[in-house]
Amino acid sequence: MYVRIIEIQQGAGAWMSFQATDELECSDITFEGPVSVDLKLTNAETRILVQGTASAEVLVDCARCDDEYSLPLTVEIEEAFVHEKSPEADVDGIDAYEVLTYKEDRIGLDEMLRQNFLAAVPMQPVCREGKCKGMCDQCGANLNHESCNCKEEEIDPRWAALGEIQKRTHKPSLN
Ligand SMILES: [Zn+2]
Ligand SMILES: [Zn+2]
Repeated sequence: MYVRIIEIQQGAGAWMSFQATDELECSDITFEGPVSVDLKLTNAETRILVQGTASAEVLVDCARCDDEYSLPLTVEIEEAFVHEKSPEADVDGIDAYEVLTYKEDRIGLDEMLRQNFLAAVPMQPVCREGKCKGMCDQCGANLNHESCNCKEEEIDPRWAALGEIQKRTHKPSLN
């Protein structure tokens, strides 16, 4: 996704809005459908500020049941691009990953969008918050789709013994 910024390149303070919906291919995120952006680009002299929102549905694996599901995400964008030939773009090493650059009169948004969406995906996504039954830790059955008999078949003898003790303590006293 590219924005032509020729109309704001002449003077500091000039700004433009940019809305678009387009497919986005990333190696580490799978988008379900297109990405929509609603952005304001401002010429801040040495850099172009990009602010606004981006929305998309992202395919993720549930941390409980391992089912793939579609997670709608809206991310707040607050970034700055520097021209690739400006002194600010001239950094090496780790810092180089954090500097977003553009060439001539157009800004490529894909890498910025990738970083923002990647940061917004939860570490442990759950397909249906509070409702996912997860996987059986014994047979691996996805309990959202099927049931299994593992829990009933296996009664830990230690818990059975504890049950006995509780029964005894709750007996009414004989006096
Ligand atoms: Zn799940
Ligand atoms: Zn099971």
